[in-house]
Amino acid sequence: MNEKKSYAGIDRMRFIAAFLIVAIHTSPLAAQSIAADFVLTRVIARVAVPFFFMTSGFFLISKYGRADKLKSFLKRTAVIYGAAILLYIPVNIYNGYFMSDDLLPKLIKDVVFDGTFYHLWYLPASMLGAVIVWYAVKRLGFKKALAVTSALYLIGTLGNSWYAFVSQVPAAKSFYGLLGQISDYTRNGIFFAPVFMVLGGWIAEERRKKPDASFSFKIGLVGLAVSFALMLGEAFLLRNYVLSKTDLPMNRDLADAILQRDYGEQRNDSMYLFLLPCMYFLFDLLLRFGGKRRRELRSLSLIIYIVHPMMILVVRVAARILGIWHILVNNSIVHYLAVSLLSFVFAYAALLIWEKKKRPSLRARRGRERAWIETDMGNLAHNAAALRGAMQDGCGLMAVVKADAYGHGAYDTAVCLERQGVNAFAVATVDEGIELRKYGISGDILILGYTDPRRAVHIRRYRLTQTVLDLKYARLLERQKKTVAVHIKIDTGMRRLGIDAEDIKSVEKVFSMGHIKVRGIYSHLCCSDSLNEEDVFFTENQIERFERLLDGLKADGFDPGKTHIQSSYGLMNYPELKFDYVRAGIALYGVLSDCRGGVRNPLDLRPVLSLRSRVVLIREVKKGESCGYGRAFTAKRDSLIGILPIGYCDGVPRSLSEGVGAAEIRGRTAPFAGRVCMDSVAVDVTDIEDIAVGDIATLISDDPQSPLYAPLVAERTGSISNELLCRMGDRLE
Ligand SMILES: *Cc1c(COP(=O)(O)O)cnc(C)c1O
Repeated sequence: MNEKKSYAGIDRMRFIAAFLIVAIHTSPLAAQSIAADFVLTRVIARVAVPFFFMTSGFFLISKYGRADKLKSFLKRTAVIYGAAILLYIPVNIYNGYFMSDDLLPKLIKDVVFDGTFYHLWYLPASMLGAVIVWYAVKRLGFKKALAVTSALYLIGTLGNSWYAFVSQVPAAKSFYGLLGQISDYTRNGIFFAPVFMVLGGWIAEERRKKPDASFSFKIGLVGLAVSFALMLGEAFLLRNYVLSKTDLPMNRDLADAILQRDYGEQRNDSMYLFLLPCMYFLFDLLLRFGGKRRRELRSLSLIIYIVHPMMILVVRVAARILGIWHILVNNSIVHYLAVSLLSFVFAYAALLIWEKKKRPSLRARRGRERAWIETDMGNLAHNAAALRGAMQDGCGLMAVVKADAYGHGAYDTAVCLERQGVNAFAVATVDEGIELRKYGISGDILILGYTDPRRAVHIRRYRLTQTVLDLKYARLLERQKKTVAVHIKIDTGMRRLGIDAEDIKSVEKVFSMGHIKVRGIYSHLCCSDSLNEEDVFFTENQIERFERLLDGLKADGFDPGKTHIQSSYGLMNYPELKFDYVRAGIALYGVLSDCRGGVRNPLDLRPVLSLRSRVVLIREVKKGESCGYGRAFTAKRDSLIGILPIGYCDGVPRSLSEGVGAAEIRGRTAPFAGRVCMDSVAVDVTDIEDIAVGDIATLISDDPQSPLYAPLVAERTGSISNELLCRMGDRLE
């Protein structure tokens, strides 16, 4: 699944939906045509809120999701809700909200269901909805959960836009009267939000199983058009029915006032039966949009949604003070545009300030001034899918993101993978693990290497899993008296870390320790990349020893927990093995370690990273002149030399000097001229026509056909891609 392709439409729709919500609350076309305004704000714009619920469901709801994912969603939403409540307190005071007689019951009802300001109901609704849906899907599976929440939605809709009809039946009327005691509207976290969240989660689930769309673009478009037409019909039918009863002209304010009086506060027109198919097709179409992700639109739309009622007030006050009420308020289009613009500017400014405070690197990254890494997260997602496709059923992907995800950036990598449903990660050190937790990664995180036992407190606090390196290490850890989760490492022949595979007694001793909770057992293959007969024999022996140990443990009544032995090459050369995880690193990043020999089961992998810099100076060097340290380069002809401000400190190996290394500029090869320095390298650009200052130079390419494909570059330095990639310097953008 290509992440870029999947979510670009969602990102953009978030932004559009925010302005549709502003429209609902400002009626932009009311002064021109009541009917047109009705279609815009009471029909079209009604897709906005369900869309947000579906998006939450899409990213949150999964049968296999872990409870901490829900917890962090609830926590985040609660914080936003709390902030929004505080923000509107002054307005509430002004409106006399706190002067009400039975303030406490009203307050509780509002905080839990209706929101303390008219638009804020969405936040408690998404929390309540998420909890309901989370457990419904886990207990019942998607199909039954969809049935149950659809039934809730039906009940809700009958008490919402269909209420005028339904209230003819006395029993129904009293039923909804009763519901009205709890929540002013059925448009809430019980009757409205859940079905859309399930639908979103279900669509995500289907796509995980089968990335290809289940119907053509055309059918989707027709589906959307038909369901929208039906929804439009439904809306007008209901509207006309209500209006026919009240004998009112199509004057909305008046009609609404009368309806309020006659039907009580429950009447509202945000729920239609045909909204369901409409949303399904709309969301499916959005997922087909290509293009770059625009994550910032998510926060922007959220802030716009929260502040726009405030901006309505601001516009009104400004209109009053400036004496331009007739332009700024009475002209409904101008009013809408003013509110939208103000909300947008406010949101944008808030976001800039926030980002500056939080992650200054985010903005710096746009620079691409000197030397930088580009990562294609779509390719990362693709590789994850390819690896998973090659695994045996029941086997999970443990993404190895040590060393800043092999130079790819642990944050972007882990977040992207978590979105792909990866919920197991491996790091080398405890601090790398803590870092991941701080980024909000909620899956299992296994520390593969040594951690000072005194840091057991950190292992526990951040819910990390430590590797038991040997029995002695286990004893030191046990002595800390902190309950920690571990995987036991077994040495099956690498002779580096682990308890000897034959030493089952020692392994069992670890099981009996009180503070150490064994959650898994693993080993590491040391020549699984080689298909040479002797190495294959050795590897098979390693696997056998591991399996024998597992059998022994089971026979003695111990549960080994999660078992794993393959890394990238383990999967590509021994795909038939059945363990719980494959710990994949290098393959995830789309490259092989080297270009020697093939693998038994080659995968369609796409390199994720490219390393680039810019030509910042071009100078002429006359024939016979030398340049650089040690005068290593001597011009054999009058030459043009380009200077790239990137050096071995940034990860360009020094061994790639004259005659070995090269960059790619304008699709042509520019050989290194002289030695790689700490902060710069000179390249011979004599043969590149139109070479210009500012041209981008590639030093490691994400094109597997390029001579700068990572394994090829690594080979020239006498190393492997793994080393080349993980040595990218901190200085890179
Ligand atoms: C780094 C590491 C891996 C990942 O190996 P790749 O060859 O990059 O897939 C797996 N297991 C252990 C123990 C590691 O240290």
